[in-house]
Amino acid sequence: MKEMQKDTTDIRKYGQFGGQYIPETLVNEINAVSKAYDRYKNDPEFLAEFHDLLNNYANRPSLLYYAEKMSKDLGGAKIYLKREDLNHTGAHKINNVIGQALIAKRMGKTRLIAETGAGQHGVATATIAALFGMECEIFMGKKDTERQKLNVYRMQLLGAKVHAVTNGSMVLKDAVNATMQEWASRVDDTFYILGSAVGPYPFPEMVHDFQSVISKESKQQILEAEGKLPDMVVACVGGGSNAIGSFADYIDDEGVQLIGCEAAGKGVDTDQTAATIERGSVGIFHGMKSLFLQNDDGQIDKVYSISAGLDYPGVGPEHARLAELKRAQYVGITDDEAVNAFEYIAKTEGIIAAIESCHALAYVQKIAPKMSKDQIIVCTVSGRGDKDVSSIAKYRGVDIDD
Ligand SMILES: *Cc1c(COP(=O)(O)O)cnc(C)c1O
Repeated sequence: MKEMQKDTTDIRKYGQFGGQYIPETLVNEINAVSKAYDRYKNDPEFLAEFHDLLNNYANRPSLLYYAEKMSKDLGGAKIYLKREDLNHTGAHKINNVIGQALIAKRMGKTRLIAETGAGQHGVATATIAALFGMECEIFMGKKDTERQKLNVYRMQLLGAKVHAVTNGSMVLKDAVNATMQEWASRVDDTFYILGSAVGPYPFPEMVHDFQSVISKESKQQILEAEGKLPDMVVACVGGGSNAIGSFADYIDDEGVQLIGCEAAGKGVDTDQTAATIERGSVGIFHGMKSLFLQNDDGQIDKVYSISAGLDYPGVGPEHARLAELKRAQYVGITDDEAVNAFEYIAKTEGIIAAIESCHALAYVQKIAPKMSKDQIIVCTVSGRGDKDVSSIAKYRGVDIDD
């Protein structure tokens, strides 16, 4: 998506962010997706099918679990965990995939394509393609195929073809480029299921809407458990889909602090980081205007994080807007802090959480002790950590792969 068109949308931006910066070859198709989404997003039959699959296939509603041991151990705020790790396929990604795949089906498409970083979005897409009897091809940076072998094999088991992308630095941003190119070359039967709250309109809005089930549920659940809203909602931010879903229903509740945790890698002030909002600047990439890590010429920087799901050089336009408005705060969490949280939550609560989610948990570890016992934190556990066990072992100097 290098050959950018001018922005074709005047409306539906997030302040200065968002829009639709797309190559000529995709204009008609993305407009068709927009139209289809406008037509179905409030359609009772569409919504009934979406919620039926969420509940009866993906295992929703997910638990809002009171982490009593962790709360007592940290000695401050009461901590509740929104357990997206318990969804079918092990992360929040399935919520969005079900929604977009239903739109694809209604548009008469028979083939789903998607990018993936850690492999969770690819696995979710391959899963729904299998369920719907659709063809599926997944694009994954070659480097990521090597650090997430288990997920590559899972996708193949589910009947998907996995392409190892060897362009650029062979990671997530290159996988997005490759998927966009594939889509531009074959639109007739193909729908691109974007995995995060990024890309040209209407993707950020679709992803927001489909993931907002997280905060709709958590609000109802916390009101039932505590009779009041949380003081703080915390979630990790790659492109920002689990975070926007976790924030959505609280954005108008001014008293609820919203915290997004970005991957700081080796540190926000080093060149091995993915802390886009803290370190980035305004640019245009992957079809949207947002904040990106880039050099003075607008070349996208290499990013780094221990977590394949968070090392994306940009962030969804709605997060850029929420940061600008100071409605949400974004903080960087280092690899070290995330790995410590990975081990902490396993030993304290018996939960092996995704390394991405552990960026949010690490922030909770830091902030909860500074809060009072009558305050409440809701932290989203975006996924489960089985896929990360071998890289955490390696980080600790143990090789379990032989
Ligand atoms: C993909 C992924 C993320 C990062 O993506 P967002 O769009 O920022 O949510 C975070 N956690 C898990 C478990 C993931 O699979």
